[in-house]
Amino acid sequence: MDKPEILYMVVPCYNEQEVLRETAEQLKNKYSALISQKLISPESRIVFVNDGSSDSTWSIIRELHSAEPNLFSGIDLAHNSGHQNAVLAGLMTVKELCDMCITMDADLQDDVNTIDEMVKKYYEGNQVVYGVRSARDTDTFFKKSTAEAFYKFMKVMGADVVYNHADFRLMSRRVLQELSGFKEVNLFLRGMVPLIGFQNCKVYYERHERAAGESKYPLRKMLAFAVNGITSFSTKPLKLITALGFIMSVASILAFIWAFIAKIGGFTEHGWSSTICSIWLIGGLQLFCLGIIGEYIGKIYAEVKQRPRYIIAEFLNDNGNKNDEK
Ligand code: UDP
Ligand code: MG
Repeated sequence: MDKPEILYMVVPCYNEQEVLRETAEQLKNKYSALISQKLISPESRIVFVNDGSSDSTWSIIRELHSAEPNLFSGIDLAHNSGHQNAVLAGLMTVKELCDMCITMDADLQDDVNTIDEMVKKYYEGNQVVYGVRSARDTDTFFKKSTAEAFYKFMKVMGADVVYNHADFRLMSRRVLQELSGFKEVNLFLRGMVPLIGFQNCKVYYERHERAAGESKYPLRKMLAFAVNGITSFSTKPLKLITALGFIMSVASILAFIWAFIAKIGGFTEHGWSSTICSIWLIGGLQLFCLGIIGEYIGKIYAEVKQRPRYIIAEFLNDNGNKNDEK
């Protein structure tokens, strides 16, 4: 490489006051090292995206920015838009400013030391570098098994996601530009990025425990995220309904024949329980199928509205004085 390129980090933060200073400190050290090794340009920035926090997250970001405007930047979203939207807000804001961009959670669960390897892979020509967890020792058994079941289920349902990869990844400027062409409202970035393509690779890291504060992803949100991932990326559930309908039809014809033979043979019963059972069964199945169709209709509704996915209230960023570098 001739000249080190510009790296922007995008870090979504929702009520992260306990951990934010520590994260900033660690990223700052990492940046100093990378800049002195001439792996990244001194114009590189760390962008914290405040996702409508109700604690002092934004004032900490402001403080960091005013102390070191040539290192820390901040984006303040007007309201809580959710992790995926906050990440996208950051990516779309920096896409013209950087050569490469890494997204990382604010809680230091992703290993900061993986950044070196990601940047090196970028210089080797990769447009996307996926951070993949090699160990899940620090997650609870419940989180670990539900997360692994999630990836397997996604695959069965026809959505192409990188196994054990969350949203810790490097993307080139080119990929960010292509990503801006995805206009969907129901965001599932880890499904969208593989769709973009280009040369890519994986780097492995050990996922740590949250450095401070608590998870903003309770089971309820995780389940909603999984359902969103499947229904945003696959029409397999719809195909399953068709298959189920077909099987039910064949079964009901057989049942009809059986009932007819039974009637002719004269060994019919009063049949109350079987009637009630089938009413419940059919009713349940119909409701279930309608529910799945409703998922899709809900999505069509959201897409048709084309609402902005986030609104940026403020963007703090100093591009730096190029003369300073010399
Ligand atoms: N986050 C966000 N908006 C939200 C929820 C979470 O920006 O509505 C951020 C959060 O600050 C963190 C990242 O998304 O940086 C991942 O959240 P968390 O660590 O709580 O999820 P977990 O790792 O427990 O799945
Ligand atoms: Mg976390």
